[in-house]
Amino acid sequence: MADYERIRWDVPAPGVGRVTLARADKRNAQDRRMLYEIDAAFSAAMRDDAVKVVVLAADGPDFSSGHDLRDAEPVSGFDTVTGAGGFDQPGQHGMMAGEEEIYLGLCWRWRNLPKPLIAQVQGRVIAGGLMLVWPCDLIIASDDALFSDPVVAFGVNGHEFFVHAWELGARKAKEMLFRGRFLTAQECHRLGMVNHVVSRDELEPFTMDIAKEIAERPAMGLRLAKMAVNASLDAQGQWNAVQSAFAMHHIGHANARIVHGTPIDPSGVDVVRDLAKPSD
Ligand code: ZN
Repeated sequence: MADYERIRWDVPAPGVGRVTLARADKRNAQDRRMLYEIDAAFSAAMRDDAVKVVVLAADGPDFSSGHDLRDAEPVSGFDTVTGAGGFDQPGQHGMMAGEEEIYLGLCWRWRNLPKPLIAQVQGRVIAGGLMLVWPCDLIIASDDALFSDPVVAFGVNGHEFFVHAWELGARKAKEMLFRGRFLTAQECHRLGMVNHVVSRDELEPFTMDIAKEIAERPAMGLRLAKMAVNASLDAQGQWNAVQSAFAMHHIGHANARIVHGTPIDPSGVDVVRDLAKPSD
């Protein structure tokens, strides 16, 4: 078993694997090490025929406060997955390559993994936090879960895995992006983004019951069902739209670089920090 620093891996029931974000002291902010550890654990789970379904859970009060903006570990130091290259190049070249690899690339890879992934979500899920939840196939939320993508305040269109309109519908996606405010678990359930909302105490046992039920089904059937639903989204042009939005995202970063000398509009930093502030 790999030696993880940012996550834990366990098998809580026959056929059920679980990845748990274990950086509660930082509200599970995602640094690059965490993203590659998640990817390594998912990959190992896909190779293990005894694992039928994987739960993605998180320690602490908040599922994830997003990307760790202080993280400076070079992308080129990891075993990269997309073949993007150019990570250390100046200008927008290196930044775009890096985000194509660690954000867009990893999310798309997870979205297409051959086994069901279930996100088990509590507390706040901000920006990059959504990029862990949305690639999963089912989302189970506790009634205190809150979801926000506030990065329009940084002068970009939204976070790098732009499936907002599919997850929420076009009109609510626009409101989420324009206002940056939290949507509640109940609201996301009504919109179809969340499968079930349960109390915080029930969150883990409820998720585990669903995972165990899914683990009873044949792996081939599960794989084909997932592929068929994803193919329906692909037929609607999801991947083309996501790539197009990713290019727009980098127009935003490049514009901020020219106007402000930094890839995000600095006036957004306080807005986003206020949203991420602990409420307890
Ligand atoms: Zn970005």
